[in-house]
Amino acid sequence: MGKALIIGAGGVASVCVHKCCQNPDVFEEICIASRTKSKCDALKEKLDGVRTKISTAQVNADNVDELIALINSFKPDVVINLALPYQDLTIMDACLATKVNYVDTANYEPLDTAKFEYSWQWAYRERFEKAGITALLGSGFDPGVTGVFSAYAMKHQFDEINYIDILDCNAGDHGYPFATNFNPEINIREVSAKGSYIEDGKWVETEPMEIKRVYNFPEIGEKDMYLLHHEELESLALNIKGIKRIRFFMTFGQSYLTHLKCLENVGMTSIEPIDFEGKKIVPLQVLKAVLPDPASLGPRTVGKTNIGCIFIGKKDGKDKTYYLYNVCDHQECYKEVGSQAISYTTGVPAMIGAAMLLTGKWNTPGVHNIEEFDPDPFMDALNKFGLPWKESFDPELVD
Ligand code: NDP
Repeated sequence: MGKALIIGAGGVASVCVHKCCQNPDVFEEICIASRTKSKCDALKEKLDGVRTKISTAQVNADNVDELIALINSFKPDVVINLALPYQDLTIMDACLATKVNYVDTANYEPLDTAKFEYSWQWAYRERFEKAGITALLGSGFDPGVTGVFSAYAMKHQFDEINYIDILDCNAGDHGYPFATNFNPEINIREVSAKGSYIEDGKWVETEPMEIKRVYNFPEIGEKDMYLLHHEELESLALNIKGIKRIRFFMTFGQSYLTHLKCLENVGMTSIEPIDFEGKKIVPLQVLKAVLPDPASLGPRTVGKTNIGCIFIGKKDGKDKTYYLYNVCDHQECYKEVGSQAISYTTGVPAMIGAAMLLTGKWNTPGVHNIEEFDPDPFMDALNKFGLPWKESFDPELVD
């Protein structure tokens, strides 16, 4: 049916490539392109014998001209951006110049400021609309499936949703005292930033990790979770009818938090460049270089993830609560595609989002967040491609 250019060859891209190859009627041809071509070639080798035709390329996604040249030679129907959030705008520029659809899993972040907001990407709306192409923003798990869950709850369960709590629990154990499950630089920027949530149309800011709750996760048990800022709060508060408050919580173990605090205290999580032996270096980038590569955690991570949304709202004039979630087992993911569940839960929705565009189910020119589209075909695909969802009408609530 179509051709996809996948940019990036890390943990998430690896899962997405495997999943595209499990869906060869839609992904007839893919090109894996990244800064380090050997990683793309290694990925291609793992998929020897699949029906999807795979090629590889070297590209610096910070360079719009290089991207345009690659797109013009491969001629994809969609570009799936699985590099880092720093590359979102250059890749969107290249898609505009070549009139190709765009999908990503994380919103743009400038390299020198740890700040997540959609304003930079929403500023492309009119240009994408005029070019007749679609940009699908945030097609990972969170953001991503959490937005699809919200659209599904709105469509099938509620007349209005007043409260959403997004709960992200990773109960996986990789055996290291400290490691991150996806790109360490992006992960640490996210968790060391101030927390925030939206209440009555306004952002309320908290100190990092200031708000803690304990939650009894289905199939996992009790875990400590902390309120974080997260990008989908911004779009869901606009796109879901009736929202009064929306929050995001993520679980962290004590060892992770103690290490993080210590690294913060000695300045290793800073993104301010420092002088070191006559060179400018960024401490957080040095830290990334010494931490385990998230892609290497697969074989050693055991346990499960549970990510989902609790909705409180009204249906037919009555109060209603509803919980939609997915439970994913790290070792099952590893057996299937050679990756742990964090990469898996992001790479599967990235493939599904691109499939929605390639099959013409979600083509509305412009720049759109995932909850703006009909959730039903995406929800079906989650069940089909390894992320089945579960629902509860009587969940424990978060105070
Ligand atoms: P990795 O660090 O494992 O992989 C990133 C890949 O991007 C690497 O192959 C890297 O190449 C490549 N890359 C980086 N810079 C460039 C560049 N300038 N040009 C070309 N390629 C480049 O990250 P992950 O796979 O863990 O994460 C990928 C994305 O997924 C991130 O944006 C992350 O924020 C997002 N994510 C989203 C989640 C969600 O639920 N929505 C959850 C988890 C992650 P090289 O190997 O040469 O460095």
